[in-house]
Amino acid sequence: MTATVLILGGTRESRDLCSSLADHDLHLIYSIAGETTSPWRPSRGELRIGGFGGNEGLSHYLANREINYVIDATHSFAVHMSRNMQLACAGLQLPYLRLLRDPWLEPKDQPWTNAETLAEAADLIPPGRRILLAIGKKHLTAFAHRTDCWFLMRSIERPEDDVLPLPTGQFLKSWPATNPTDELHLLRKHNIDTVISKNSGGSGAYAKIEAAQTLGLSIIMIRRPILPNCDKARDPEEARMWLDRQVQDADLGAMKNYR
Ligand code: NAP
Repeated sequence: MTATVLILGGTRESRDLCSSLADHDLHLIYSIAGETTSPWRPSRGELRIGGFGGNEGLSHYLANREINYVIDATHSFAVHMSRNMQLACAGLQLPYLRLLRDPWLEPKDQPWTNAETLAEAADLIPPGRRILLAIGKKHLTAFAHRTDCWFLMRSIERPEDDVLPLPTGQFLKSWPATNPTDELHLLRKHNIDTVISKNSGGSGAYAKIEAAQTLGLSIIMIRRPILPNCDKARDPEEARMWLDRQVQDADLGAMKNYR
């Protein structure tokens, strides 16, 4: 019987993994939260959009759709989804893998400060700064009380109406540039002296950090939430190998039972 794999997405790694599994004899379900207006679609398999309805909804979904394997390739800060999925998989004894890129490392000789939370990041900003705030659209309000500062808020989607009040400054609807030169240009254009970012890791959003380092700007880096113990992969290739092993082990187990 063809196994069904649920991939929790919203990241480049999740899309790369789906594409690398396109020739596998598996039923793929690629799931996203539905935060973006034109989502990526896998070339094979199914796209599902929207939350599962918390723990209970998730357990029902996994059982009803007869999911065999779950690969959680959500962003390193998507903690609610990851926690819920880990709990649901543990309850149903489903194999679960967390696909997560390595975090960015703190350079030795650069003005880089780590913050444990968004609130701490807001408190750590020295007075009167001009800031590139690159944390997505959801949690901008955490910086609104810093009225002594000016914020360039960059996100690929506009914040919803309930994300209010916004910090003082300008909203920029844009993907992060992948080229440090473009980021350098943006930082100079807006006279930015501080960059605030989540420690997402990977190469896709690193250009702003490289540009900030080139200009000697202050960086406030929000650390990732701590990941509970589970099977992990650092890139799509490792995740694909994990899945191949799981499928092979299951096939061997089925053959033994048949004999
Ligand atoms: P979150 O706080 O962990 O999730 C909030 C809720 O959204 C979850 O409880 C779940 O709803 C739903 N959800 C999240 N990811 C989902 C998925 N892949 N498929 C179906 N439902 C999902 O996550 P978030 O930080 O809002 O991130 C939402 C999505 O954006 C994720 O797919 C993530 O990979 C992507 N993303 C996040 C960031 C970031 O900085 N957080 C950056 C880039 C991309 P129910 O409880 O109803 O199941």
